[in-house]
Amino acid sequence: MITYDSLYVDGRWLAPVDPLPIDVHSASTEELVGRAVGGGPADIDAAVGAARRAFDDPTGWSTWDPAARAAALERFADELVARGEDTATRVSLQNGMPIRISRQVESTVPATLLRYYADLVSKADIEEVRPSLVSGSTAVRREPIGVVGAIVPWNFPQTLTFFKLAPALAAGCTVVLKPAVETALDAQVVGEAAAAAQLPPGVINIVPGDGPGAGMRLVTHPLVDKVAFTGSTGVGRIIAEACGRLLRPVTLELGGKSAGILLDDVDLGRAMKAMFAVTLLNSGQSCYVSSRILAPRNRYDEVVDAFTALASSVSVGDALEESTVIGPLVSARQRDRVEDYIARAVADGGRITTGGGRPADNDRGWFVEPTIVADVHNDHTVAREEIFGPVLAVIPYEDDDDAVRIANDSNYGLAGTVWSSDVERGTAVARRIQTGTVGVNGFTLDHGSPFGGIKDSGLGRELGPEGLAAYQQLKSIYLPR
Ligand code: NAD
Repeated sequence: MITYDSLYVDGRWLAPVDPLPIDVHSASTEELVGRAVGGGPADIDAAVGAARRAFDDPTGWSTWDPAARAAALERFADELVARGEDTATRVSLQNGMPIRISRQVESTVPATLLRYYADLVSKADIEEVRPSLVSGSTAVRREPIGVVGAIVPWNFPQTLTFFKLAPALAAGCTVVLKPAVETALDAQVVGEAAAAAQLPPGVINIVPGDGPGAGMRLVTHPLVDKVAFTGSTGVGRIIAEACGRLLRPVTLELGGKSAGILLDDVDLGRAMKAMFAVTLLNSGQSCYVSSRILAPRNRYDEVVDAFTALASSVSVGDALEESTVIGPLVSARQRDRVEDYIARAVADGGRITTGGGRPADNDRGWFVEPTIVADVHNDHTVAREEIFGPVLAVIPYEDDDDAVRIANDSNYGLAGTVWSSDVERGTAVARRIQTGTVGVNGFTLDHGSPFGGIKDSGLGRELGPEGLAAYQQLKSIYLPR
């Protein structure tokens, strides 16, 4: 049983003013495994106040030489690595992510990102002097944007936190992090590691809490300079509206309904070896999965059979078991939502070829079987809306143009994949997809390149040098001749 009764704010563990009791149940067994506490608007006020003071300190974090900040981020990374196994276990207990994935991703990517941005910021020029086109010269400076309000979901809680924290801290910003209540326990590890790394008080402040209370207070707080959000499109719109009124910069990483296009020359045997990670990873609770499978009409049955074999062969079980490939969903609510989508798929004329229900061997935990729905039309609900579960829709197409048309006929534009025996042909099709990211014969998220979506999938980019620029503002100082 893991218990916390305080919040990491201003470099100390403080009892919340507006306590929000959080009971954490194992997604795999439904047992109570932890008790944490979150905060409300008054705690956000305290956290933002601490972040503001830390940012405005005339000799503080934001004014440090980038190399000094980089050294602190390296220490922070070391402390996170030392807690990696604990972090992975907490994530898997809470949200049902198979432990082999949380070890590979959740306990390693945060340190990787901190080291990447530490290196980037210590090599980049903060100030560049250009000859003026009129007279004298101009110093163009990249200054930290200020106090950042970061709001993250539960599906990859650590990784998505550090998509924001690593570049923001490297740039010289201070941060108030609002994790989702579903993953409050692993968020506390971030505070413990920050304290152990001796980051100055107020540089990182962590207040788990609900959306409308703590979340909205953070978005609209007068002393916050930028909002960075990852979550659903519906909440993203609410946050964008609030930031629009305030003229507050905001980055939005939202939902997806990406297409995986199998071209007619695809080597299906080879493609299927890489397909799990792109479609069903984390029980489909990953924003970038290719959840619409587009199959050429003349190979449709072959493709449906291959996906049916994939989905029916993966081992479903307790997230903490080493052998588990598919764990439970994060909550009973999420399981019910996914089951509703499966019922809708059938009502719309879809054909379930495997799965469709709860696994017989798991009488506890929020499990849904990996499910393939064939004979889906792109107008069906199962092809239009993000399900966030282990459900794939297989849609037939006529030729490459038709495949591109169907892929682009979506409100979303976050990711996607193209599969072909001819990489050049696959890449040519990838160029035609309206999306923020797309993979050819796989999808490996590259931390050195921008990640994000278009259309209802979001605004702005994270990762790469562009992800650092999102936490900097430009200032031109016109210098005399
Ligand atoms: P969600 O939008 O319900 O919640 C995300 C976070 O926002 C949580 O911390 C929540 O407490 C907070 N929140 C909720 N309402 C709020 C409000 N009114 N004001 C401020 N904060 C509020 O999303 P979820 O169900 O937790 O996460 C799943 C969603 O996240 C999916 O749609 C998924 O696609 C998306 N996601 C996107 C990416 C990406 O990079 N594009 C990555 C992972 C997840």
